[in-house]
Amino acid sequence: MARNPFIAGNWKMNMTVPEGTALVTALIEEKDDITPVEVGVCPPATALYAIGKLLQEKGSAIKLGAQDVFGDGTGAFTGMLSIPMLVDCGCQYVILGHSERRGRFGTTPDWLTSPLQALFADSNESVNLKASIVMRSPLTPIICVGETIDERKAGKTDDVVRSQVEAALQGLDKGRLGEVVLAYEPVWAIGTGETCDSAEAQRVCQLIRNTVAAIDTAAAGAMRIQYGGSVKADNAEELLGQPDIDGALVGGASLKAADFAAIVRAAKVTAG
Ligand code: PEP
Repeated sequence: MARNPFIAGNWKMNMTVPEGTALVTALIEEKDDITPVEVGVCPPATALYAIGKLLQEKGSAIKLGAQDVFGDGTGAFTGMLSIPMLVDCGCQYVILGHSERRGRFGTTPDWLTSPLQALFADSNESVNLKASIVMRSPLTPIICVGETIDERKAGKTDDVVRSQVEAALQGLDKGRLGEVVLAYEPVWAIGTGETCDSAEAQRVCQLIRNTVAAIDTAAAGAMRIQYGGSVKADNAEELLGQPDIDGALVGGASLKAADFAAIVRAAKVTAG
């Protein structure tokens, strides 16, 4: 089945509103025809509204995504964001279960060993809960899975990834399961400059697709599986050329328009 590649930029805790506006304006000005590639940006919460408005005003096809969500509705949850708030800003996607929110790291920056880290420690269960409410909303989840370096060295990669996928998708409506985007992000490759070898990334992405197929074959055929972990202009084509890699979740290289646009172009080349 043909799946349109999906390249999403995760800005993390970067970009003020003026900086994000300049970045998106530069991306829009890249006039290349990128069909059939789908492109998304996931700014920090403070920039969502402004970037959503900019994309709408420019009539851009670039999609807007948030980096996490807490719940549906309203309530006494200081500092948290709800699905209606994200929809209000123009979001179509939301990243769930990024390793930086799962509270388990391969290499832990010192400041994240503080109690602050525990406050946003997502688990397989919380990711599933978030996915189930997102799937009942207009948003589409980009669910991140991936092993730490210790898990890889212990030969646990397949078990960890399989169980994260099974847990995240548990009980989701099978009719819409194929819309979910899964991102395979080996934790040791995120922000480190160390990319997973393309053959190994393909092997794990195929394992992810087979895991989804055991739940629903049609969903497995339709689902986009991204690779994430130090994707750059010079390795994108090799990674995106793999049969079970349908896009990329890009961190650092999404912060410069020229770098991100080059990855998008690589996706177009591999899409044929
Ligand atoms: C990410 O944040 O999901 C990511 C893959 O980051 P980077 O591209 O910087 O490794």
